[in-house]
Amino acid sequence: MPSVAATYYDGVTAKRNAVQVSLHPEGLAIFAASGRPIAIWPYQEIRRIEGFAGAGLAVTLLKVPGSSAEPQLEIPDPVFASDLAARAPLTLTKGVSARRERRAVVFWALAAIVSLIGLAFYGLPAIAGRLAPLVPAAAEIRLGAAMDPEIRRTFGRSSPLRTCVAPEGQRVLNELVGRFEQAASLHVPLKVVVVDGPLVNAFALPGGYVYLFNGLLQKARGPDEAAGVLAHEIGHVKLRHGLRSVIQAGGLGFLLGTVFGDFAGGTAIILASRSLIQSAFSRDSERQADAFAIDLMLKAGGDPMGLARFFTDAAVADPGGFAWISSHPANAEREQAIRNALKDAAARRPALTPEQWTALRAICQKTE
Ligand SMILES: [Zn+2]
Repeated sequence: MPSVAATYYDGVTAKRNAVQVSLHPEGLAIFAASGRPIAIWPYQEIRRIEGFAGAGLAVTLLKVPGSSAEPQLEIPDPVFASDLAARAPLTLTKGVSARRERRAVVFWALAAIVSLIGLAFYGLPAIAGRLAPLVPAAAEIRLGAAMDPEIRRTFGRSSPLRTCVAPEGQRVLNELVGRFEQAASLHVPLKVVVVDGPLVNAFALPGGYVYLFNGLLQKARGPDEAAGVLAHEIGHVKLRHGLRSVIQAGGLGFLLGTVFGDFAGGTAIILASRSLIQSAFSRDSERQADAFAIDLMLKAGGDPMGLARFFTDAAVADPGGFAWISSHPANAEREQAIRNALKDAAARRPALTPEQWTALRAICQKTE
């Protein structure tokens, strides 16, 4: 009786067992690699399960006497699979979820091991920096989409966070974001909202989510200060700083979960969101985002000096009192760097007309 290689799960643990299977008159026989018999599954009780990639077959046993275990076999050999199909009814059964859970356990265990090894050899920041560019945009978007509600909960505190949607202001915001987006050629679409709150704050999540607080619009003395902050946050999106810091906080396993998993609402997302809000990006990241913002404004309109002015204005008015400022270190130095970069640039037209700026600042007259 010819036998072929297969993978066996005992239905209790997540362990993958390399086995041999063969077709016997009384059923499908499963042997350990050592030759020890594991089980014979009567053909009438074998059911196909979904989700096996490739030409083979994944099957389970309909009922195991005296047990709730759901053992499974993956048989990659297509010839053997079709022989088996000729003998067993092989109608589809449920049990896929159980199998996926077991797979998830295996996956997370592996991811944890890989994380630890990577951590030991390279240190997490280095790994995060190297891996962030490799994460598919779709996965980054999924991550941002899972973090977005968490961020809203965190900032909303007792009441749900409200976003500002007064139509005139919304039009101006859309126009400005559209202009920046086109010039920035981003890997993800931007989702910029103004948040109804007094904080002078702005931040970017992975996946193109950018939040500008109304406090920042009110604090800004002109459109270029607000547009400069927006351009800076778009820089963090473009350079995937949020993604990097999430990987750094959550480890490689988390990154892999991002790519393969669906983890909305899970503890990992809550922790990642918290850490992103609480921890500052590195000085290098900030400098890069500033440089990007200057470039973006020179391309898409607006005076990059607005960003430099915002550092001085906001800091002078209330030293250390503003979230965005205080989480962005070494403001004086960054302000000087922007001034230097623009030394020879001609005077620039503002990012918005006075009317547009007025409309944008009034965007929180309607919230939802
Ligand atoms: Zn920043």
